[in-house]
Amino acid sequence: MEKAIILRYSEIHLKGNNRYFFENLLIENIKSSLKRYNYQFKKTYGRYIISDYDESYEQNIIDSLKKVFGIHSLSVCYVINSNIDDIASATFQLGIKSGSFKVECNRADKTFPLKSYEIAAELGGRLLDKFKDLRVDLHNPEHIIYVDVRESKKTFVFLDSIPCAGGLPVGCSGNGLLLLSGGIDSPVAGYMMAKRGLSISAIHFHSYPFTSTQAKEKVLKLASLLTDYTGHMDVYVVPFTDIQVKIHENCPEEFMITIMRRFMMRIAEKLANSISAKALITGESLGQVASQTLDSINATNDVVSMPVFRPLIGFDKMDIIDIAQKIDTYETSILPYEDCCTVFLPKRPATKPKLSVVKKAEEKLEIDKLIEEAINGIEKIRL
Ligand code: ATP
Ligand code: MG
Repeated sequence: MEKAIILRYSEIHLKGNNRYFFENLLIENIKSSLKRYNYQFKKTYGRYIISDYDESYEQNIIDSLKKVFGIHSLSVCYVINSNIDDIASATFQLGIKSGSFKVECNRADKTFPLKSYEIAAELGGRLLDKFKDLRVDLHNPEHIIYVDVRESKKTFVFLDSIPCAGGLPVGCSGNGLLLLSGGIDSPVAGYMMAKRGLSISAIHFHSYPFTSTQAKEKVLKLASLLTDYTGHMDVYVVPFTDIQVKIHENCPEEFMITIMRRFMMRIAEKLANSISAKALITGESLGQVASQTLDSINATNDVVSMPVFRPLIGFDKMDIIDIAQKIDTYETSILPYEDCCTVFLPKRPATKPKLSVVKKAEEKLEIDKLIEEAINGIEKIRL
C-alpha cells in the first residue's frame, strides 16, 4: 500500500504578505534536509506531502524532517484510491486491534458518496467486525484513526501526528553570528536562535598551542551537529593566543576574563558586520560563572553596539543540559579538551568588574592593532 508523509506548518507565521517568503524558505529547507533521498514533494493547501520514497528510508526521512524548523507536526499515512473498501483495508493495516478507538473523517471531496459521519460510522463498524477486542469511545479513545478524503480522489489514512521542531524556517529572521566554544551552552544557544529563524554562522576563539588541535576539532564537530538544524554553516576560527598573552602581561589578573571577553565581542562584531550578520549570540546564563554576573555582562556588552542574543540567560544548567541531550551535542560538549578561557585562568576573577576600572586596565594594550591581527589570521571553514 502506498505511503506518504504529511507535513504541517504553523499557520500563524504564514499569514499576510510574508506568506510566500516563509513558505518558499521552508520548502527550500525541507528539500535541502532531504537531499540524500529520492521522493516527490507536493504542496496542498495548508500542508506538504512527501511521497514516492523508498520505504526502507522512511525513518531516516522522518528523523531529518523533525529537525527542520517551521514544521509543526507530521503524520505517516496510507494513500489509497477514494473508495470505501480500499479505505477500510487501509484502516485494518494500522495495527489497531484492541482497546478503544474512534474514526475522525474529513471529506474535502464533496462528490464522495458518503458524508463524513457516514464514512466514520461505516469504517467503525467494519473495524469492530474484524477485531473483536476493539470498542468505540467517541469521547476519550485510546486511538484516533484519521481519514482524509482529498479532492484528488485519493484518501489519506493515518494515526496520531508526530510533533516536530516547530519554530520558524531558518533564514527568515536574517543572519546571526554565534560565539561557539567547546562547552555545553553555546551550541544550545545557537540551536535556540536558529529555531527563531536565524541563519547561523559561528566564530570560535582558539588559543593554539595552549589549547590542542583536538579542542578545535571538537568545536567543528559541535558545529557540524548543529547543521542538522541550521543547514550549512560557516565557522570562523580566530587565533586568540597573542591577545591572551598580551592581556596576561599587561593587565591585572582579576580582569583577565572580562578583558578577554571584551576582545571576543569586538572581534565578533567586526566579523559579523563583514558577513552581514546583524546579531551576536552567546551561551551566557545569568550568574552561572564569574564572567556571567550582571556587572560582567555589562562590561562585555559595553564594547558592541549590535544586539547580543543570550537565549539561555534565564535557564538553569540542568535545563540547558536537557536540550543539549535532545539535540545530541551533549556527549561532544563534555569531551575533556581545554577551552581558551581556561588558559591563564585567574585565581580570583572579578565578579563585579567596574566598567571604568576595566577600561583603565585595558589602556596599555594596542586594542585596534591586536584586533586587526586576529582578524587577519581568521580561518574560514564551511560545513
Ligand atoms: P559554554 O558552555 O558555551 O562554553 P560556559 O558556561 O563555559 O559556556 P563561558 O566559558 O563563560 O561559559 O562562556 C560564555 C559564552 O562566551 C559562551 O557560551 C560562548 O558563547 C562564548 N565563548 C566562550 N569561550 C569561547 C570561545 N573560545 N570561542 C567562542 N566563544 C566563546
Ligand atoms: Mg565555556
